[in-house]
Amino acid sequence: MVMTGYESEWVSETLERLSHSAFRAKFTLDERDRAYARAKGRVVIDRHARDMLRSRVGDAQPRNDGRQTPWRGHPVFTAQHATATCCRGCIEKWHHIPKGRALSDEEVNRLADLVMAWIERDLIAHPVSRIDRPR
Ligand SMILES: [Zn+2]
Repeated sequence: MVMTGYESEWVSETLERLSHSAFRAKFTLDERDRAYARAKGRVVIDRHARDMLRSRVGDAQPRNDGRQTPWRGHPVFTAQHATATCCRGCIEKWHHIPKGRALSDEEVNRLADLVMAWIERDLIAHPVSRIDRPR
């Protein structure tokens, strides 16, 4: 997905805002998730992010809302907690999208772009370990 200037600004401002929350800022990917994300590549993880957001938080009344997002097991899950896109309560509080109605495609895409930006930032901050890298 190519982001417009306005949207990439929204993504960086939102990441900055989230970094001031001790709860949100403590999340990082674990090494398994990083290896998985690197092996699958950006295009695949991006598609997962869009599909997972649409199916888990996209409906007007998502199933198990508030408890539908596992803490780990897929990089997108962890990124959802870190970016407050884990449930409709967090999405309403942090991203001002009201509960009780389905998310639009534009909203799913915008939140997925946020999730992807968070995952990419984590991968950049945690490069492949020195032991794997040729000197
Ligand atoms: Zn939540």
